Amino acid sequence: MAETLGFDDMTEALSVSIFDDGPDRVHIQALYETKAHAEAASATIDPRLEFAISQVPNEDWVRLSQSGLAPVMAGRFAIHGSHDTPPRGLAFPIQVDAGQAFGTGHHGTTQSCLLMLDELETSGAKPGQILDLGTGAGVLAIAAAKLFPEASILATDIDPMAIEVAISNAMSNDVSYESLVADGFEADSLRGRTFDLIIANILAGPLRELAPDIAGAISPDGQAILSGILDEQAQWVADAFRKTGLTVQSRPSLGGWTSLWARP
Ligand code: SAH
Repeated sequence: MAETLGFDDMTEALSVSIFDDGPDRVHIQALYETKAHAEAASATIDPRLEFAISQVPNEDWVRLSQSGLAPVMAGRFAIHGSHDTPPRGLAFPIQVDAGQAFGTGHHGTTQSCLLMLDELETSGAKPGQILDLGTGAGVLAIAAAKLFPEASILATDIDPMAIEVAISNAMSNDVSYESLVADGFEADSLRGRTFDLIIANILAGPLRELAPDIAGAISPDGQAILSGILDEQAQWVADAFRKTGLTVQSRPSLGGWTSLWARP
């Protein structure tokens, strides 16, 4: 039903949300530009189901939804929107607003990457060359730049919009890194280049596909942080990386997501 309400050519919704109301009950909320669009969409709803059309007041919804996002703490990092002042006493505030690229730090996968970066620095590691593969809004590249100010950092994404957002977020956080639109390692400037640290918070499928390329791009003393993996996919992803000869260690799950360390 959410699919029909959201993606029908005639009645394309601005947004569709599915709410889990408890055992055996969900409700769906779909937002349309005009009442006429909503009425047209409602014609596709099974008449046995209950539904109502109501008008949403004209508000600055982006601002409102951002103000609902509380800062996220992970290790020494605090990620907050521009509507919030950073919590005091933390070494590394990162300012990121919800926008058109993935990554406000609210996802368990990003948090576990932040914790792993924090641990890495505490353990004394000093990666000189860092790659944030699938940077989204740039949260992890910014975190790396704050933790390792001497490092040279490259942030890549397959989505040009993400790179635009990542560049603008770098500026608002007073850090700088190189950035590049690329699908995995498919870019001339990536061929043959190695990194002391690769952070890849993508998803299990793409990680498995990229395993040989990632393995080939880690320097001999380097390591990779692999994330975006559902707990039940961890073994599947770990196997693909072990096959490349890397040693893989898994971290405790965070909200149903597992991250992995991979080292030569
Ligand atoms: N690292 C960010 C964003 C994670 S979302 C964070 O932790 O907040 C995953 C990002 O990976 C998306 O922005 C997506 O566009 C990008 N991505 C997916 N497949 C990719 C690929 N093959 N190469 C590069 N980027 C990819």
